[in-house]
Amino acid sequence: MKSHAAATRLLVRRLGPAVVRTDAASLRAASFDSSKLFFPPEAVIFPRDNDDLGRALVLANERRVPVTVRGRGTTLTGAAAPRRGGWVVDLLAWNRIRIDGVAALAQVQAGAKVGDIQRAAEARGLFYPPDPSSKEYCTIGGNIACNAGGMHGGKYGVTRDFVVALKGFLPTGEYVEWGRPTRKFAAGFNLRDLWIGSEGMLGIVTEATLKLIPRPAERWTLLASFRDEAAAFRAVGELFALRLQPAICEFLDRQAVLCVERSPGGRRIGAGGMPVVLLEFAGSRAEVRENRKSVLAWAKSRAAAHSSTWDRAAAEKLWSARRTCSGAMFALGDSKLNEDIVVPMSRYGKFARFMVGLRRESGLAIPVFGHLGDGNLHVNIMYHAADKAECRAAEKAVKRLMETVVAYGGAISGEHGIGLAKTPFLRLQHSPAQIRAMRAVKRALDPRGILNPGKMFEVFEVWKHKRLVVDLPWDHKTESSK
Ligand SMILES: Cc1cc2nc3c(=O)[nH]c(=O)nc-3n(C[C@H](O)[C@H](O)[C@H](O)COP(=O)(O)OP(=O)(O)OC[C@H]3O[C@@H](n4cnc5c(N)ncnc54)[C@H](O)[C@@H]3O)c2cc1C
Repeated sequence: MKSHAAATRLLVRRLGPAVVRTDAASLRAASFDSSKLFFPPEAVIFPRDNDDLGRALVLANERRVPVTVRGRGTTLTGAAAPRRGGWVVDLLAWNRIRIDGVAALAQVQAGAKVGDIQRAAEARGLFYPPDPSSKEYCTIGGNIACNAGGMHGGKYGVTRDFVVALKGFLPTGEYVEWGRPTRKFAAGFNLRDLWIGSEGMLGIVTEATLKLIPRPAERWTLLASFRDEAAAFRAVGELFALRLQPAICEFLDRQAVLCVERSPGGRRIGAGGMPVVLLEFAGSRAEVRENRKSVLAWAKSRAAAHSSTWDRAAAEKLWSARRTCSGAMFALGDSKLNEDIVVPMSRYGKFARFMVGLRRESGLAIPVFGHLGDGNLHVNIMYHAADKAECRAAEKAVKRLMETVVAYGGAISGEHGIGLAKTPFLRLQHSPAQIRAMRAVKRALDPRGILNPGKMFEVFEVWKHKRLVVDLPWDHKTESSK
């Protein structure tokens, strides 16, 4: 990796050692994200204000120093790991949140924690629906950069659907604003949406205006068990055909359910050992009561067993299965290829059959769970890193999976993004012309290629790389597991 020692010394002189840290602990903490792939940076910048950030970027351009911006480092794709070294910009301290209760807008700095934004909105009777499971850790800057989703995606949408305006810096160090804190804005190209989902490669978000909606007055939760995965998928299709729109529609396949039931402190879920669908209906009391009647009739005729509740504490017990499943899967292998594919609703049945075949062919445990409201499913290919045959089987299985979802008309990622982990599959999803267009945009906004280099377009086979052995606060935790 190229050294940028002289540029780093100059940066320390210009911004001071409190802003530009080069001690071993700071460098290590910024060298990896939740993927645990690691690449040492030469400095970590904690800008005090826009001036610090702009000056650092201008110098980085002059000296061609790679810069990687970082929120909380919860991305699972390696997107926040400084692949080419250089400098990391840490914006965690930029966490101011202001709610405009009249316009129903939130003015937030990039480092604001998503859970804090939701609580600040709720305190004013408002609701910010995008809810990644990592919300008690991740930042809105990271959510915007990844276009994060979550359980509410099917009904309300994802981060993109709630971003009204952005402020920040181009990779060249020029300050820009995309949109205004107004509900309408049609003046010029929409570069706001170009930044959303650009994984820290086209600009640095420093501040965002977010749209808020009225907080739903009532919530009602139902858990239904099904004979098999195909029956669960079929039933969910029928539910949507009834024009019923759950706020949340989560699925756990049989392997995911068994992992939770057999985990320490685990208990029977629904009918026990069967795939489940968890639904939440939210809205006005009248609306939810109306939905409830039809949903209970649906569950009675389609599910093997079901239970429901209005009580939030009782609902929490039903949701705990969903929250513990990701961590519980490590009973099936010490390593996981965690994919977040999108399957078109019309292909759910075919996908259930494909998964049966994939497990048989690979000989691996592959629990699946996720958001049936928008087809975003988390496929977890479990293997033991020390077992060469299992590693090869996992690599083969992930390739088959990606080829299949693209052939179905789906996507290789619904919310995590490409980073490093999905780079081998970008060319399955996008044609050469599409990739050329993306690279042309990158060159136009970042002519010196300094912002988060080595990501998205260069193939990086994660399964061939060592991961750091480190425990992160969100690892295997019941409240934060995906
Ligand atoms: C337990 C767990 C559960 C998760 N659940 C979900 C889920 O339900 N839904 C979901 O979508 N994701 C989920 N994720 C993935 C992850 O939390 C999201 O991708 C999140 O958006 C990352 O936010 P962050 O602040 O940690 O960003 P980081 O991981 O620090 O960075 C992610 C990317 O954003 C860029 N970036 C960060 N801040 C900025 C900024 N200010 N300007 C420009 N670019 C920036 C970085 O360069 C990097 O490319 C989960 C992860 C974990 C570990």
